[in-house]
Amino acid sequence: MDCIFCKIANGEIPSQNVYEDDIACVFRDIAPQAPVHMLVIPKKHISGPSEISAENAGTAGHLMMTAALAAKREGLESFRVVGNSGADAGQTVDHLHYHILGGRGLGWPPG
Ligand code: AMP
Repeated sequence: MDCIFCKIANGEIPSQNVYEDDIACVFRDIAPQAPVHMLVIPKKHISGPSEISAENAGTAGHLMMTAALAAKREGLESFRVVGNSGADAGQTVDHLHYHILGGRGLGWPPG
């Protein structure tokens, strides 16, 4: 499968890695929208938030735990974790990922 985030997860494409374990990795977004902008992804391919099910719920939960860990490591007291699902919501990469944004005030609701 030709998936850019699978390639990042297995080291075929370089990334600015922040954290990695057996299930997940965290790296810096190539086009940061905030002073801190990281992505947390599962190593195993899941195509997006809409594909989270009972079978992979453990992995999905692990991603949230990992997001909290990465935010703490970056010294963020406030941060946002957001996942875009589907083209109209802004999903451009079909491999599950959550954005971890922080380091500035974040408006709500998002656009
Ligand atoms: P989304 O639009 O929610 O699917 O998020 C995809 C994110 O991946 C965007 O914020 C991109 O800037 C980011 N991105 C795409 N390619 C890379 C890459 N090679 N390394 C790091 N981030 C990337």
